[in-house]
Amino acid sequence: MLDGRDDLARAAEGLGARLPPALVVLARIAYNYRWSWLPGGAELFRDVDPERWDQVHANPVRLLEEASAPALARAAADTQLLERTARIAALIDADLQRAPAEVPDTPLIGEHPAAFFCAEYAVHASLPIYSGGLGALAGDLLKQASDQALPLVAVGLLYRQGYFRQRIDAGGWQHEYWVDTDPERVPAALITGADGRPLQISVVLRDTQVHAQIWRVQVGRVPLLLLDSDVAENDGVSRWITARLYVSDAELRLAQYALLGLGGVRALHALGIDPALLHLNEGHAAFAALEIARERMAEGDPLELALAGARGRTVFTTHTPVPAGNESYPLDQVARSLQAVADELGLGVEGLGRLGRSHPDETAEPFGVTQFALRTSRRANGVSRRHGAVAREMWQELWPGCPVDEVPITHVTNGVHAASWLGPEMRALLDRHLGSGWLSRSASPDTWSGGQSVPDAELWAARQAQRARLVEHLRDHSVSGRLARGDVIAYAEAAAASLSPDTLTIGFARRLATYKRLRLLIADRERARELLRGDRPVQLVLAGKAHPRDEEAKRLLAELFELKSGREVAERVVFLDDYDLGAAALLVQGCDVWVNLPRPPLEASGTSGMKSAVNGGLHLSVLDGWWAEAYDGRNGWALSGDVDPDHAAQDARDGAELQRLLTEEVIPSFHERDGDGLPRAWLERVRRSLCTLGPAFSAGRMLDDYAGRIYRAD
Ligand SMILES: *Cc1c(COP(=O)(O)O)cnc(C)c1O
Repeated sequence: MLDGRDDLARAAEGLGARLPPALVVLARIAYNYRWSWLPGGAELFRDVDPERWDQVHANPVRLLEEASAPALARAAADTQLLERTARIAALIDADLQRAPAEVPDTPLIGEHPAAFFCAEYAVHASLPIYSGGLGALAGDLLKQASDQALPLVAVGLLYRQGYFRQRIDAGGWQHEYWVDTDPERVPAALITGADGRPLQISVVLRDTQVHAQIWRVQVGRVPLLLLDSDVAENDGVSRWITARLYVSDAELRLAQYALLGLGGVRALHALGIDPALLHLNEGHAAFAALEIARERMAEGDPLELALAGARGRTVFTTHTPVPAGNESYPLDQVARSLQAVADELGLGVEGLGRLGRSHPDETAEPFGVTQFALRTSRRANGVSRRHGAVAREMWQELWPGCPVDEVPITHVTNGVHAASWLGPEMRALLDRHLGSGWLSRSASPDTWSGGQSVPDAELWAARQAQRARLVEHLRDHSVSGRLARGDVIAYAEAAAASLSPDTLTIGFARRLATYKRLRLLIADRERARELLRGDRPVQLVLAGKAHPRDEEAKRLLAELFELKSGREVAERVVFLDDYDLGAAALLVQGCDVWVNLPRPPLEASGTSGMKSAVNGGLHLSVLDGWWAEAYDGRNGWALSGDVDPDHAAQDARDGAELQRLLTEEVIPSFHERDGDGLPRAWLERVRRSLCTLGPAFSAGRMLDDYAGRIYRAD
């Protein structure tokens, strides 16, 4: 097998050879992320050396490499740990040995999987090759495909420096920095060829032959193949192509996209994988279709037939309802990376341009990546019902004369992989009440109906425990965080008392883009302070990164930090630096209310609220993205989703309504307790939220939709 399976096994053997024999099985577990969504999986590694587990950011390979000899000896003698390890290893083996699922009415079979392409994957905090929601969705989809034994292989890029990390200074100003990841020290293996040397593919980009090697990461049953251009054969610029996620230089970014698309298809074929279809998740991978067409021409098809053939094997998911978010470039810039393949196809630069314009004949129009993807795929979808409608309107001009309702873009609403996001107490609760194996039936409303009978006291205990864990974590990290920021000692010390484990906790964590309107939370300073200070106080946990060049978002962050003067605020508002998967898990598990304030209709879907909902959090959001189809009047709270061109008026209205909801509904409901100290009405809302949102926004439902409607053969 030249597809990297043996390379992963060898990497695990190499790691195991340095461990006491009793722990060798842990090395094998380390090289497949399947452990990360099994209850007790992370604890196996943590219990070898808890402090080191924190220091290595939950990277199992580094943990086993760096754990001290005494820690390893202790673990090797811990029979209880060894028993747990054996049990988890057996579960993983059984999972991997299942036969591939049959996927009716699709071309997918074990030998011809779907090839999923994406520029970022958030599989685990220890593999930092993601920036946010798109990556989180991709990671969840891979895990769900593994759970359902759906034949799927994923393709991406290995960014040695990933996305920027965030540090906030005492003035609230964001600073960006990058950290190198050594791929040798994450659970990845470099794929070697028959000669034992790293297998390479190459693509001509920018008049240069660019080489890339391929790493394999195992996500349960799903292989994730990551191209890496940082090889000795390349010049300095080419080596930088896969250095950082979403580089700002346009030419380099296009080279990334071309490497992902063209190189990704070549990599699959180099490994003997012949996918039945390509699923391009967002436009970054769009150029994969060109490579399929090129292959067909090499086999003798004329251009039109080759393009039709590529189209027949490609499906596309768009995630961007913000017009400026749909990337477009001057055609000559695109040609720098795609000239070679366009010439080989006989398309030429102009032929390429026609595929990337909304109006093919308007040569002044720049080349749009989304337009190109729409023209070269046989099915396309947005990621929520509302986003589907927005996308049909946005792209109607590509189908002149077609009524907007008939524009061939449908929707598959996003979902989340519950096993990855559930906190331990909620997981245990649902395991007790939803029946054994419920996760494999998580897309069915029947599965969740067991949630109706969860006793209030049990539900509340799980919620209390998850909030307390969040508060404990924030206290631990806030004192040093504030000191590191250069804050005054008194403010840093206030962090030790910050947040209370029993106080209503509101979370707002997301990209700090202007359209997400974090400003609404603090627009009225006096009322915001009142909320935090009142005799029924709330506490606020915030996190999120501003795009490095988004000065407006950065100024907003700084304004937020101005709020902190005053003891109540210092104790009741926490900003968590460097929002990532680990922080997201902690927040969605612990917060009581999850707030989302996008300016409609600019939220494609949003998924963090779904993660909160499965954990018994309540969603308070504008009726945009997924919430527009999820809210039923009793499973959370909603703000108007109406579009209003007068942004200032809209913000004033929504800000006032947000305050009203919080003070008249959310806060009283949380505090209304019965003789047993239980907030009965609150818990009823939580139960309703779990039972309605759990199935509808599960990754299982999402993957069923993709298999049934998007991957379906014509
Ligand atoms: C889920 C997730 C997101 C997406 O959240 P939205 O609701 O779309 O804002 C972003 N970043 C991380 C780290 C996540 O886990």
